[in-house]
Amino acid sequence: MLIYFCISCQQVTETYDMVIEDVTIIDAKNSILLPNQTIYIRQDRILKITPSKGNSGIIADTTINGKGKYVLPGFWDMHVHTCWKDSLDKTVFPIFLQYGITGIRDLGGSLEILNTFKNCAKVRAHLYPNLFGAGPILDGEKPIHPAFSISVTTNNFRIVLDSLRSQKVDFLKVYSLLPSSVLDSISAYSKEKKIDFAGHISEYITPEMAAVRGQKSFEHLNKLEELLDDSDRLNNFFGIADEHGSWLCPTLVIYQRKYEMANGEFFYHSLFEDLDKDLKLEWEYLKEGSTPKIGDEIKESTLRYHKQKQLVKAFYDHQIPLLIGTDFAGMQFVYPGYSYHEELKLMEEIGIPPFEILKMATWNPAVFLGISESFGTIEANKIADLVLFSENPVESIENTLSIDMVIKSGKIADKTFAKN
Ligand SMILES: [Zn+2]
Repeated sequence: MLIYFCISCQQVTETYDMVIEDVTIIDAKNSILLPNQTIYIRQDRILKITPSKGNSGIIADTTINGKGKYVLPGFWDMHVHTCWKDSLDKTVFPIFLQYGITGIRDLGGSLEILNTFKNCAKVRAHLYPNLFGAGPILDGEKPIHPAFSISVTTNNFRIVLDSLRSQKVDFLKVYSLLPSSVLDSISAYSKEKKIDFAGHISEYITPEMAAVRGQKSFEHLNKLEELLDDSDRLNNFFGIADEHGSWLCPTLVIYQRKYEMANGEFFYHSLFEDLDKDLKLEWEYLKEGSTPKIGDEIKESTLRYHKQKQLVKAFYDHQIPLLIGTDFAGMQFVYPGYSYHEELKLMEEIGIPPFEILKMATWNPAVFLGISESFGTIEANKIADLVLFSENPVESIENTLSIDMVIKSGKIADKTFAKN
């Protein structure tokens, strides 16, 4: 009797660091909702998921009642600039987490800061979004952003790229003024060393050439807009992009901002007060120096914005995979965290169903970054980066703002960065 009792004790005393009971899991990868699920977390991983069945004698340090709530894997902002000042981990990263963004891809800044942030994240994972970064931008002879760029030529490319690889950059960021011949060299190097290159389509090549060379993602709509003028060319391009596995990170929100600014509107969100002072100064400076467009210029900018949205929808319709990115700190009045949700909303506005948008925000980045074994869905053995919502984001994408709780690496994320 005693032995039996002890065995049953052992069976019911399995302990967990955190348990989320009776929650609806949004499986965006397969476009299904899984109601009444219990998620068991130990350390930074999901241990298992079972259907909820009342009080099952679970012992956990933290038990979260998920009844009436929805849960997604953490979002990824796939285009940000955070590695230009070493204090941004303390000011900006908590904002990302607060808005459900548990992963970011940094498209250019200081390699030293990138590696500092990555090292800090190793010991304080719950305070840092997962970070993938390029380090400095690779540009032509006279770089557009000299402070954060390296001028690459056909002569120095191997030295430059070897050095970046040895310092563990996650990918190479190519920029607008790289000559075609240098891009050939970068493309060959990328294949040889198995390191991705991504970024702007250079002014000196066509989108078709960028796809054929194996540029992994096109950031923004630079150069792609010209495809809209010729529907045969556009369709042909989609075939090439599909064949070469190209991705698009359109950052539509920057075009919304440009459109607003053309009309003399400057978007002040309450987050403005929390931003880094250099950023605030830059944004105010831009505002002071700008003159609103008039007459035909307004018509032109309205038409252009409309076409940009059409273009992104065409990519979606032709099944070119999309990523959600904002270009935070690359474009004025684009906010960390909040603007990510603006980008999601724009995707809905152009006619993409919420389930598909949520897939772009969670599963697509995991596939793109080659980390889908640990991220991108809510499954056993994956990292416990989770966002709980009080409203269903599948019904309306705006409900992604109804964030109830963010869990990063198995811990509840809060705003008290400095104290932790
Ligand atoms: Zn950028």
